[in-house]
Amino acid sequence: MFDVHVHLFPPEVTCEIERYTTGDPFLHEICHSKGHKYATVEDLLQSMDKNGVEMAAVSGFAANDQGLCRLMNDYVLEAARRYPRRLLAMAVVSPARSGFEGEIRRMSEAGAAGVGELFPWGQDFPLEGKEAGILAGLCRELDLPLLLHVNENVGHPYTGKGDISVKEAALFVAAHPDQDIIFAHWGGGLFFYELMPEMHRQLQRVYYDTAAGPFLYDRKIYLVAREIGVLPRLLLGSDYPLLSPLRYRREMEQTGLTAKEVDMICGENARSLFFRNRKHV
Ligand SMILES: [Zn+2]
Repeated sequence: MFDVHVHLFPPEVTCEIERYTTGDPFLHEICHSKGHKYATVEDLLQSMDKNGVEMAAVSGFAANDQGLCRLMNDYVLEAARRYPRRLLAMAVVSPARSGFEGEIRRMSEAGAAGVGELFPWGQDFPLEGKEAGILAGLCRELDLPLLLHVNENVGHPYTGKGDISVKEAALFVAAHPDQDIIFAHWGGGLFFYELMPEMHRQLQRVYYDTAAGPFLYDRKIYLVAREIGVLPRLLLGSDYPLLSPLRYRREMEQTGLTAKEVDMICGENARSLFFRNRKHV
């Protein structure tokens, strides 16, 4: 299995979380929400072994402060260096603040495999804005997939749920058609619109991850995704330590996907996205 959506916190940040989240209301709220957990690289590897996960793309947690993003990045970079066969580093940055391009270049040179998870709403960089455009252009130049948080704009409220959703996501893709984008949390439902032929054509480089799906959707969503034809672009994202990857796998199996389809979502699709040109191997 290959999990594309994992969050680690450096222990030195966790033990002083009040200090680090002062002045960052979004991160502060996330860290103080019910069910929020902190995981170290050791916790993650233990969980991966237990759950049969071979590889994970690991992010810190995107903060507003560029310096804190850098601390998070150093931690995942070191983790990926220590466990090159298990972990890929993802870069988090604060596009609303200066210095994010330099940090992405630094991470790319150090071997990062992608950028994200970033929060356009929580980090205050609208997807139609100038910064988001620069971000997409840079990811394209460096050939880095971009993992973005979007969410559905209907249904129950929860911490982290913002008002950047399918419309903003679709316009962002239209403006950056050559960029590989992973929209987290089923893209807030964007994939439903692939039933529209022009949207299906436009979204060919868009991937969706399953993160937090069990809290949001009936497991029949996997059958709907199959019917719409997006299984080759659906990626297992657990949002670990929020949920364990096995919970997702079980839902996929129980809902009646074939073993081959489950394997695609749980690993093959992510492998072909991240190792397409094998530069991170
Ligand atoms: Zn998210």
